[in-house]
Amino acid sequence: MRRISIFGSTGSIGQSTLSLVRSDPSSYEIVALTGGQNIKQLVKDAREFRPEIVVTAFRELLPALRAAVSDLGIEATAGELAISEAADRPVDWVMSAIVGIAGLVPSLNAVKQGATLALANKESLVAAGPLLLAQAAEHCATILPVDSEHSAVFQALLGEDIASVERIIITASGGAFRDWPQADLVQATPAQAQTHPNWTMGQRVTIDSASMFNKAMELIETKEFFGIEERRIETIIHPESLVHAIVGFNDGGMIAHVGPPDMCHSIGFALHYPTRRPLDVARLDFTQIGQFSFFAADDVRYPALRLAREVMNKGNLWGTSFNTAKEVALDRFIACEIGFLDMAILVETVLNDLDKTGSLNSEPRDLQDILNADKVARRIARNLNV
Ligand code: NAD
Ligand code: MG
Repeated sequence: MRRISIFGSTGSIGQSTLSLVRSDPSSYEIVALTGGQNIKQLVKDAREFRPEIVVTAFRELLPALRAAVSDLGIEATAGELAISEAADRPVDWVMSAIVGIAGLVPSLNAVKQGATLALANKESLVAAGPLLLAQAAEHCATILPVDSEHSAVFQALLGEDIASVERIIITASGGAFRDWPQADLVQATPAQAQTHPNWTMGQRVTIDSASMFNKAMELIETKEFFGIEERRIETIIHPESLVHAIVGFNDGGMIAHVGPPDMCHSIGFALHYPTRRPLDVARLDFTQIGQFSFFAADDVRYPALRLAREVMNKGNLWGTSFNTAKEVALDRFIACEIGFLDMAILVETVLNDLDKTGSLNSEPRDLQDILNADKVARRIARNLNV
């Protein structure tokens, strides 16, 4: 029986994780489930999985949450601190699947207690990669990437020496606007951006896929997690989303990871690691697929990719500020305050403004440094006119 907690359990990754637990309930004891606005889902899952504690991010929802689980003898709490406290509870395995910088503290708390961290929250690595990895090393915690591309690289590297890796290629579907003419992108709306051709994901990551900010985040994640230099990390457009990543070695050999576009594969891999267990995901028939296609990803069409390279090369607080500026740019696009192409302009302007102050080039020593940088970048990004 493994004790597990799921942060962001009501979201797309959280629900897929619960569906895997549902298929083998006697193997898991759920400690914490957390969500945001959707307490209906949280309550439904609490009734089914009987965790020790349920937490909503929103304090105003606590009375309703408490009332809804009172007959179950399950604790209910609310707010940022409550989520952090829930992440201090001893467990064997944690799914970090809150969206945004709010997922960082649960990720850090999970590794501090030596748990295995299944990391879907990409913001943890982008905003605080070195800190998270240092904490994991100090507390002998294992981090398993859940983002499909990084799970793919991780699997391709099993039994390999990282020193023999020449290049890592992360594939990108191209998102909702892959086939749109560049000139039309200026008018793209949030509703159009949130329909992904291949993957079913949360709203924010889906829009980030259309703008290629998702891939930009993933390039930075790759650098942080695998400790590979920027020049060895590539991205290419692969519309079928079946080849998730390719690792090239110094003998010219390459290992590609291929699978259906279904997050249950990488979540299941992280849940069962180091063993493999049968998963109920589609099996590919190559004779039906016929061919894989690949195209170059254009830095001019996708400025997010160019910005990611700058962030990877500069290190320090560049990743934190990039993540924050992107988060705010996305909020403002969803609120129809700025246009689709303005998101990259906003992120670049925030980074340039902060760079002029010299504040991005200091090394964050702890969580407080990261949170301070986040606060400063957030204020600038919210007030900037683009
Ligand atoms: P989602 O929007 O479907 O779910 C997000 C979860 O976070 C929900 O449970 C929500 O209640 C919670 N949440 C939102 N704001 C919060 C806050 N301020 N405090 C606490 N909880 C909050 O998102 P998702 O698609 O499941 O993605 C989750 C994370 O995994 C993201 O970082 C995303 O980039 C990453 N990821 C997702 C996918 C995917 O296929 N969905 C793939 C790779 C990586
Ligand atoms: Mg991904």
